[in-house]
Amino acid sequence: MAITSPSTPPRSSSVAVVTPSTPPSTASKAIPKEKPKEVSGSKPKEVSKETISKEAATANKVPTIGTNEISTAYITPPASPSPPARTLPRLQSVTSEVQLQSITIQEPKYLSVKTIADKLKIEKWLCGAQGGRGSCRWEINNTEKEPHKRDKIESLIKDLSLADTSSTAFDPALEELAKSYSCHLHHSGTTLEHKLTEWRDKLIPPTRIQGRVRAALWKPSVKCLVCDERIGGQRVQNCQMTSNLVLEHSGNIEYCTYLLRVWDANSRCDLHSGRKDEARIIRLVAMIQAIATTTFSSSIDENPDMSKPIQSFWLSAQLTNSFKSSKWDDPNGETDPLKILKSTVKAPLIGENLKKGFVYIYKVDGNPGRFKIGYTANLEARRKKWEFHCNRKCSMLYHKEVPNAKRVEALCHSDLHENRVQVYCDGCITNHNEWFEVSLDEAKATLDKWATWMIKSNPYDTRGLKSGNEFLKDATVLDDMEAFKKDPMAKCQ
Ligand SMILES: [Zn+2]
Ligand SMILES: [Zn+2]
Ligand SMILES: [Zn+2]
Ligand SMILES: [Zn+2]
Repeated sequence: MAITSPSTPPRSSSVAVVTPSTPPSTASKAIPKEKPKEVSGSKPKEVSKETISKEAATANKVPTIGTNEISTAYITPPASPSPPARTLPRLQSVTSEVQLQSITIQEPKYLSVKTIADKLKIEKWLCGAQGGRGSCRWEINNTEKEPHKRDKIESLIKDLSLADTSSTAFDPALEELAKSYSCHLHHSGTTLEHKLTEWRDKLIPPTRIQGRVRAALWKPSVKCLVCDERIGGQRVQNCQMTSNLVLEHSGNIEYCTYLLRVWDANSRCDLHSGRKDEARIIRLVAMIQAIATTTFSSSIDENPDMSKPIQSFWLSAQLTNSFKSSKWDDPNGETDPLKILKSTVKAPLIGENLKKGFVYIYKVDGNPGRFKIGYTANLEARRKKWEFHCNRKCSMLYHKEVPNAKRVEALCHSDLHENRVQVYCDGCITNHNEWFEVSLDEAKATLDKWATWMIKSNPYDTRGLKSGNEFLKDATVLDDMEAFKKDPMAKCQ
């Protein structure tokens, strides 16, 4: 008979706790004044029980799914969430009772289609990604580009139901589903990672106490613990880095307490940063203490410095790393750039579109060849706000005052559709999607082109209607979109 050892140890929820859900890249910029020994790079050891069971399983040659005789039993996963316990065959080669006890072979566990759909609230068909501004309300629908999107999602749920929750197949299947069940803003990057963590916890709940610690320390937030003010990208990152340290040093309760004070101070806006919540800190320490001995590794030899004032534990430093980015997809699934531009040109001007303002181009450090094109009523306020939220130095390169500023921006975005990307921001834990990988000259020329068209040809009017909404005067410009895109002023001369 074919004998294999398990390709991976069974996944235990404790591993999910010690693995930070934030990318380590965030830890790269702001540096503690005196680096504690294990700030970066050191990963908590795996739970020893797993190691033992893996070794034992190998030593005793216990068959797993995939070997002939046993696998047949799993071909059709049971429909109920918890299949009845199966007794594994006792093997001749198992020599001692002690060894047998140390073997923890997890029963394959499957989730039914219904369980998955219910727990993840699939029937709502809303993206649901958690951003800085709450949960995303984008509706997941069939589009021209993906006419069978909902069918596809249903088949991905079926795939997931066929994956043993403790097997290596489970996470990739969950990720495929999460990607599909996300809007164009949230199908990748940091927000997708957060969704995956959230979904995994819903489907395979962590133990209560782990869940509470994680919820308390890991829930990414851009808002103050006390009020609704934004705390700024610097503190968002400080919190994430402190959470990492807490979990790495969970064996040292004194240091953890100190770190939790650092975390608490960084979770507040300027107005509330002086306050501290000792009761909350004590609660968290107690929770960590309860699981430290069983779940987390404890470094006995460490002697971390706790003399620094809480407020200045982290040095402030703006991010300069390159954004992770991906190509931007049109939210309606349209792929023809000329059609995208056409629908922007012919859409009526309503509300915000009717206001004048500034269209601008700016860049941030560490991202050559990438430019943000946007519009605002107040250039300097916009720039400062962005620097605060995203914790990056942001340089305004070009701007122009125009009527219908939002529409001029939209025309530029549509014109440069093929250069458009979305970038993942570690500072405000969200994706920004008005970025373009293009030369500065081309970005300026495009902005000038549509600004000029708006100013000089005055292409929209109310058609005498009382609503105040404005409509494209001359629809014949749409007849030859290629020529119109090249030079919208040609017809006006
Ligand atoms: Zn979304
Ligand atoms: Zn506050
Ligand atoms: Zn904008
Ligand atoms: Zn940002």
